[in-house]
Amino acid sequence: MMRFRMLVLILAILATTFMGRVAAQSPPVVAEQTQESGNKATYRLPPAKLKRAIEYSRKRMELGLGLTAWEMLQLLLLLRLGIATKMQGVAVKASGNRWGQGAVFVFLLLLVTSVLNLPLQIYGHHISLVYGQSVQHWGSWLGDHAKSFGLTYVVGLPLVMLLFQVMKKSPQRWWLWFWMPSMGFVVIGVFIAPIFIDPLFNQFEPLTQSNPALVEQLEKVVARGGIEIPAERMFLMKASAKYTGLNAYVTGFGASKRVVVWDTSVAKATPEEISFIFGHEMGHYVLNHIYRGMAFTAVVMLVLFWLGYRGVQLLLERYGAAWGIVEQRDWGALVVLLLVIAVFSFLSDPVTNGYSRSLEHAADVYGQEAMHGIVDDPQAIAVQSFQLLGEASLEDPYPNGFVEFWMFDHPSTSRRLAFAAGYDPWVAGEHPKYFKR
Ligand SMILES: [Zn+2]
Repeated sequence: MMRFRMLVLILAILATTFMGRVAAQSPPVVAEQTQESGNKATYRLPPAKLKRAIEYSRKRMELGLGLTAWEMLQLLLLLRLGIATKMQGVAVKASGNRWGQGAVFVFLLLLVTSVLNLPLQIYGHHISLVYGQSVQHWGSWLGDHAKSFGLTYVVGLPLVMLLFQVMKKSPQRWWLWFWMPSMGFVVIGVFIAPIFIDPLFNQFEPLTQSNPALVEQLEKVVARGGIEIPAERMFLMKASAKYTGLNAYVTGFGASKRVVVWDTSVAKATPEEISFIFGHEMGHYVLNHIYRGMAFTAVVMLVLFWLGYRGVQLLLERYGAAWGIVEQRDWGALVVLLLVIAVFSFLSDPVTNGYSRSLEHAADVYGQEAMHGIVDDPQAIAVQSFQLLGEASLEDPYPNGFVEFWMFDHPSTSRRLAFAAGYDPWVAGEHPKYFKR
């Protein structure tokens, strides 16, 4: 899995400062492969597990949609019920200067939306415990939420202040002028996340410390890619303290670029399977998916900001009087902006997720090609790996195609496994995509 979620997360912090969209969960699965005939290489689960997997992915999907809908509805209610203007009143009363007002208003808004989201998030953690996907205690879970709250406030407040400053200077073009420094924040955020943010939530250590033999083996895969990932850029994340699933990802760029392998993967996968999982991550690394992801995010943000600008204009013209919000520079207008951006970012999910799936597929191809000559049967290893990953995360073998299209940031496990089973570019007449023969 690539660290594309981090970009989405930062975009979410920037653009929808207050919406804790389901960022923590990895996607469920979907597939067209319902036929039982002939083809042995199909992602399958034993009956008891299958039933749980179908239930679990259905609940997760409902939760994801529920949270998205509830986030939009709650913003609308804050406006309709006059709560946004009340919070604005409190902020204006509390302080004579803009910074003081902003600090109060942003805090209140963040507090109210966090509390309103909490029940559904508690339900989300509850089902991940019930279905064995998480082992995190409630105290630690709540602690993580508190940290996210603090982080969102610390990052969000200066951004909101900057936004209102830019709106004052350029009421009609703020979406463009604000987009530029926002992208600066995204770039800085992606750079510092592995160093300052990720360690707030999980423990990391150099992979060589506990798994020197694994590093040696991974260096073989790296050498085959003709690139360099020095051992000190390989990290082990102590995921087992919270999660049961297997994972690895690439994060950061420049001096902070690194590969992270979850300790759960090291514990549950064979060295050959880890080679494939690592090869996939190396694909993200070599194919510059972090940079591509940032460039893509930049385009999406520009469009969202413009839509945000237009949407706020239209809504204030129509409902401004009823909501008690006169102009876009009123603090309460921030709620309108967040509502507009929430709606359009949901509508843009198929595009962003489709883009993410295309990167993931490229990394799958790269990972499988990278194993050639290192393991005996790259196709079989890739198939085994997907089976292992899918079972560990209780992926539904038969997800709904529309749900996959809209909500999955990875292709379904069934799809990935079926592709791997049939992909052998080394036979006569075929050509590997990323490696020379
Ligand atoms: Zn990936």
